[in-house]
Amino acid sequence: MTTRNLLHFLIFLSFLTISLSPIELSSEEGLPLQDPVLDYIFYNGTVITMEANQPYADAVAVMGNIISAVGSEVEAFQYSNSETKLIDLKGQTLVPGFIDSHSHWIGDRGLTNITDFNDVMQSLVSYGWTSISELFVNQDRLNELQAVDNENLLKVRVNCYLPLGYGFDRFGDWYQAYTPGYEYSPRLRIAGVKLFADGWYREPVIFINQSEMYQLVQETHDLGFQIAIHSVIPNATDIVLNAYSAVIGNNTNSSRHRIEHLVLLRNDQIQRLADLGILGCIQLPWFNSDWNDRIEPVIGRDWAVLVGRWRDLLTKGVHLMGSTDYPYVLGDIRTPIGIMASAITRIGTLNQTPVDFMYNQTISPEQALRSLTIDGAYGTFQENIKGSIRFGKLADLVILSENPLDIAETEIRNIEVVLTMIDGKIEYIKLDNPETSINSPTTTIGHSDQTTSNPPTSSVTSLTLFPILITLAIFWRTVRTRNWK
Ligand SMILES: [Zn+2]
Repeated sequence: MTTRNLLHFLIFLSFLTISLSPIELSSEEGLPLQDPVLDYIFYNGTVITMEANQPYADAVAVMGNIISAVGSEVEAFQYSNSETKLIDLKGQTLVPGFIDSHSHWIGDRGLTNITDFNDVMQSLVSYGWTSISELFVNQDRLNELQAVDNENLLKVRVNCYLPLGYGFDRFGDWYQAYTPGYEYSPRLRIAGVKLFADGWYREPVIFINQSEMYQLVQETHDLGFQIAIHSVIPNATDIVLNAYSAVIGNNTNSSRHRIEHLVLLRNDQIQRLADLGILGCIQLPWFNSDWNDRIEPVIGRDWAVLVGRWRDLLTKGVHLMGSTDYPYVLGDIRTPIGIMASAITRIGTLNQTPVDFMYNQTISPEQALRSLTIDGAYGTFQENIKGSIRFGKLADLVILSENPLDIAETEIRNIEVVLTMIDGKIEYIKLDNPETSINSPTTTIGHSDQTTSNPPTSSVTSLTLFPILITLAIFWRTVRTRNWK
């Protein structure tokens, strides 16, 4: 049966179910659909949804691994029962799980102080990361990721970018054994390929000439891969933009090809990125005041003013994904909150004042949050299943101690991650009191000195439409998940 036929059948089944159902249904009365039991309700706090038509909500319900209600507390509690776990936000803030769009958390963990795989997973969820993109997954690393995924050891969702080479080395066509967009599991996916145009701004080296770049971009584009190209200096970015321009032509950038880092950019390049619709992946912990002595003294004023032009990119409408590039981070800033604070203030760990050309490119808290949530999801064709808090999306959620959009910018760095949920499962909880149990019917998260509201009681028992909507949402998500490139 094709997916379209299956969808029609499901819709038909839904109407049949509605028309045959009595008004009041209990779980024993023969519905083929599962009795809807809400697993979690988050209430009594601020919900930042990252959805334009409903930016804030009071409560969120989760059923299985899906967000099943976003709205008022009355709406969220409508389908709760005695088994539903109630999570009192106590005035704290619920946000979509954070997405690190460019990192090497797993592949290069050997360079860090956390080398054990399971420790890396635990660290990630404690920081609030729910998805990461690994930008250098070679054959050995892919083998390892598949192995840990098979053992259900991946806690965060991982998108893999397969490198075609590194520096002047070329790795051949090994990547062609893999299918773009292929999902090994909900936690492991092939996202695209990775190319390198150059090295770093200090002693810059360009690794590829224009004709080879044309050829590699055309080849991987024709195979349906999203392409991510490391490019730092303007001469390298020209080569990348020329190649992307050749495959995009007068069309839109429907493959969502992207450029990693974009460290130095001329005005004309920012315009060209916008015109071609190329996505930019930036590293939010970079170019803060810890870098004061590392840019202008090295490359001079004329070039320094071209570094880290994130505000200019956003002003021109370039789609930016935020990331850490961990462990390639000065000052070891590795949390979503830490890197947001850095990008918003450009103040580093040494607390110095950023030099003018860095301070002039600070971005807003809202822009930083977008880059780490819904815009990050867009960067991997997953904006329909995650990156915002919306009915039917995956339950990847984080509780923050404060609202980053409603606090002094210099205080953002002090916000704490209180709880991380991935796929409807609580993977991390910050315990104020070690006696606190996440399994108790009423789970209390946060500081006891804040006010607590009583959850509204539910009197609704008619559950006819709800399971059908959930079934359709889950089905829809599956179709969307399987069909992207
Ligand atoms: Zn990297």
